[in-house]
Amino acid sequence: MIIVLRTDATEKQIIRIRAKIAGAGLTPHISKGVERTIMMVVGDERVLDQAGMETMPGVDRVMSVLPPYKLASRDFKPEDTIIKVRGVSIGGKKLCVMAGPCSVESEKQLISVAKKVKKGGANILRGGAFKPRTSPYAFQGMGEDGLKILAAAREATGLPIVTEVMDTRTIALISKYADILQVGARNMQNFELLKEIGEYKIPVLLKRGLSSTIKEWLMSAEYIMSRGNHQVIMCERGIRTFEDSTRNTLDLSAVSVVKHLSHLPVIVDPSHGTGKWRWAIPMSKAAVAGGADGLMLEVHEKPEEALSDGDQSLLPEKFAKLIKELKPIAKAVGRAI
Ligand code: PEP
Ligand code: MN
Repeated sequence: MIIVLRTDATEKQIIRIRAKIAGAGLTPHISKGVERTIMMVVGDERVLDQAGMETMPGVDRVMSVLPPYKLASRDFKPEDTIIKVRGVSIGGKKLCVMAGPCSVESEKQLISVAKKVKKGGANILRGGAFKPRTSPYAFQGMGEDGLKILAAAREATGLPIVTEVMDTRTIALISKYADILQVGARNMQNFELLKEIGEYKIPVLLKRGLSSTIKEWLMSAEYIMSRGNHQVIMCERGIRTFEDSTRNTLDLSAVSVVKHLSHLPVIVDPSHGTGKWRWAIPMSKAAVAGGADGLMLEVHEKPEEALSDGDQSLLPEKFAKLIKELKPIAKAVGRAI
């Protein structure tokens, strides 16, 4: 942290500022220039509140040197994090492909589509049992029955399962079934949920909030990690912009930015990112070309009858074709799928 003092800062004010810094266990170093006096703070500045320091008499401006997140940052851990789930690696050379329906609707539906996505190249099965719906009258998910069906689909296919958790009250239940806990976009800043999930040892898929900056998204990862759960997978799923031709605006540049700032794996969800299966196909290709560690795609055998997100769900044949087409793209960027 660099603190620029006011030109009229008094000795007494400077003593108070130094004492505040020392009280936080950090070391202040003063550099007196001709025009300005600057205080450099040595130590982990994250323990000091920047806005609070700025309000101190004698302070003109405060500039942070470190990002506000620590455990999630590449400075803290330079090498890529690879998360292993039942033999599937997320973040390594081989890309992960999470696929399946938006919602678990019945055992017949899920087992059938699970077998098809596996055949088509998925290595993780997705499906929501607790659904965050805009309308309280829309299908809310099958709840625990849906979790049991997910477990049966894992049994039938060997695919690990990822499913959403929306509430602190259901984490214990969902973690009995899930291999990866999904935190949805709407809950990215549900800090109580993040803290509680941080107490578990299960990998977490952290979706980017609808209107969240990359810094806020990384701070949410930090919430989970600061409680001891370091297995966080970041998922870019589009953000709200003025554009209304697509459901969201898929921010593919976020992949490069997050991978630069953080060691955590980053995957892309072009289904929610675009809202239409048609656009999910080219955006999957762009995501792989752009360095994503994997994809999350919604797949349904009868999209017109889906209880949620049919518009953006690929037919299994289209999914399988896409995975084939992704192979040379992955190879060109030094990855495999
Ligand atoms: C989902 O994965 O079905 C979902 C609701 O995603 P998001 O939180 O990204 O909207
Ligand atoms: Mn969905």
